[in-house]
Amino acid sequence: MASVTTRALTKTYEGSEKPALDALDLEIKDGEFLVLVGPSGCGKSTALKMIGGLEDVTSGDILIGEQRVNDYASRDRDIAMVFQSYALYPHMTVFDNIAFPLQIAKVPKDEIARKVEEVANILQLQALLHRKPGRLSGGQRQRVAMGRAIIRRPSVFLMDEPLSNLDAKLRVKMRSEVAQIQRTLGVTTIYVTHDQVEAMTMGDRVALMRAGVLQQVDTPDNMYHAP
Ligand code: ADP
Ligand code: ADP
Repeated sequence: MASVTTRALTKTYEGSEKPALDALDLEIKDGEFLVLVGPSGCGKSTALKMIGGLEDVTSGDILIGEQRVNDYASRDRDIAMVFQSYALYPHMTVFDNIAFPLQIAKVPKDEIARKVEEVANILQLQALLHRKPGRLSGGQRQRVAMGRAIIRRPSVFLMDEPLSNLDAKLRVKMRSEVAQIQRTLGVTTIYVTHDQVEAMTMGDRVALMRAGVLQQVDTPDNMYHAP
């Protein structure tokens, strides 16, 4: 586990005058679940992509623990990511989808089996390990995508609107499931959503953004009761 710190993190896309993200200062504590919330286009994904190493930083710093990671490749950041379009491999079983990152890392088979079992327990996927994604529900597929992301036990977990493709009823159910999984893992998590209810029900703290600028960071309770 590790904290994540951004210092004056700024992104101005090429051909644009105005920064998409303007001097974001955030500190996400070890093991914390922080939700980044705000309307579409306010810069949430831009922030997450830079932290994950998928987008260059225009200025400012990103620290994981004490380490400045601006110049680290995505794969060297000890970060896992889940996005709304969970790209599972349709021809592979749940087991192999979750195991995939370990298989390409040439982890020994018995160790893979043990780790997949551990993650499957946390995600309640034990009974589905032999199925292919086509025979899973949307919520189950989302849990498999999370399984594949966390199988290597990253220090930091980034999620960008992971529930937005699900129908409303399932989305509500998955909110508490995802929050529960995060707490079980204790992994430092940044979760992006435009849904205020999602933010207020899931986060240890909520960071509210508007037009590239951070407006407020606080616990859901304090935000709710703010004058
Ligand atoms: P959010 O995730 O909050 O919806 P984004 O971070 O995706 O917001 O976008 C923030 C701003 O940056 C928007 O104005 C968007 O149009 C712009 N933007 C996002 N990606 C790019 C890109 N690759 N090139 C140019 N502008 C972009
Ligand atoms: P092999 O027969 O090639 O030595 P294994 O017997 O380890 O390989 O696994 C055969 C297939 O079953 C592989 O696709 C593997 O990823 C998968 N597998 C291994 N262990 C489990 C398990 N506990 N549950 C579900 N699938 C598994």
